[in-house]
Amino acid sequence: MGRGDLLAVDREHLWHPYSSMLDPAPARLVTGAAGSRIHLDGIGEVVDGMASWWSAIHGYRHPALDEAVRGQLDRMAHVMFGGLTHEPAIAVAERLIGLAPDGLDRVFLADSGSVAVEVAMKMALQYQRGAGRPERTRFLTVRGGYHGDTFDCMSVCDPQGGMHGMWSDLLPQQVFGERPPRPGGDVDAWAAGFRALAAEHADRIAGIVVEPVLQGAGGMRPYAPECLPVFREVADEHGTVLIFDEIATGFGRTGTLFAAEAGGVAPDVLCVGKALTGGYLTLAAALCTAEVARGVSASESGALLHGPTFMGNPLACAVAAASLDLLATGAWVDDVRRINRGLQALHDIDAADVRVLGAVGAVQLDHDVDTAAATEAALSQGVWLRPFRDLIYTMPPYVCTDEDIAALCAGIRAAAEAG
Ligand SMILES: *Cc1c(COP(=O)(O)O)cnc(C)c1O
Repeated sequence: MGRGDLLAVDREHLWHPYSSMLDPAPARLVTGAAGSRIHLDGIGEVVDGMASWWSAIHGYRHPALDEAVRGQLDRMAHVMFGGLTHEPAIAVAERLIGLAPDGLDRVFLADSGSVAVEVAMKMALQYQRGAGRPERTRFLTVRGGYHGDTFDCMSVCDPQGGMHGMWSDLLPQQVFGERPPRPGGDVDAWAAGFRALAAEHADRIAGIVVEPVLQGAGGMRPYAPECLPVFREVADEHGTVLIFDEIATGFGRTGTLFAAEAGGVAPDVLCVGKALTGGYLTLAAALCTAEVARGVSASESGALLHGPTFMGNPLACAVAAASLDLLATGAWVDDVRRINRGLQALHDIDAADVRVLGAVGAVQLDHDVDTAAATEAALSQGVWLRPFRDLIYTMPPYVCTDEDIAALCAGIRAAAEAG
């Protein structure tokens, strides 16, 4: 099939993320990718400012990651995880435990980020049942968050600005605190409100679910790391389980290996995903403490009631272990710092707000972006971007060169002017 035919079939039959089947925005055909670039049919190589939704941190076709997949393929692509185990799953668990904040040494391997968040919430609910508090069925979070697209995940996404407003009658009713203040903002005032809200609802709250330091898909908003100890204290004071969703922030994106480190606290449950496999295959995990695991076991079922068909997929685990080995070298630290320096150029763009944290750069306009025009403008600068709402942003692969980052900044500027 030629390009036109492929795109016609795609347009007629395939749903894309958050898209209309009747009136889809045009999709562009990708024919390959290497390093920081993707190859678009009819356009050529462009710098990938999205890192495939923030996951391809080491770039495409990385030799070590390719080799991990090939090597595993020669042994087996998949076996069930019920009653069986294998070296790739054990390798990825050992590495995650070694890198994660102390105490998080019980690992549940999930097949997507949303499922990891569901499992984390289920851990908190079962923990409370084990503690004799079955009435604790709600979650406390903050406005502006994003935690995935399944129903329980949607219930802790931002209730107004989020993508999921149309389900509000159907979703479990959760408790929402104010959005944490931006870095340098008034943490004390925010903390007083959050503590009061927690105290008011404490006897119903199973857990606290938040993205540490950076709210991602909810609006690309960094916030003061001093808020993290407040979450920890509130969780301890009221006997609730603290869940950090690091699916976007984990693995160096915000400048520390895990965003939790910026606040000097460890959660009771940590969710990771997206960059876990370096963007190769779908895999996520929920890590918890021994205490949470004991609590889950004390619930009436004794078991954690979850088990996806493709749990612990060996191909995904093998490439995740290889990706974690690349991170363990520490080379990402300089890369993220270097990218951060390059992204400071975004502050020269005339916009409602510009936010740069780690290897994240976001430009907020004073209106919703004309996505088609902005995407075209970025492509004309040799850059792939995917703006949403009023935001044009980049979360590039860590292997981007200084020239790549300069191109991304030029692309974001062009997109902001066109969109
Ligand atoms: C992307 C994301 C999720 C959902 O992960 P999926 O793999 O898309 O299900 C959950 N939480 C955060 C913070 C995310 O960025």
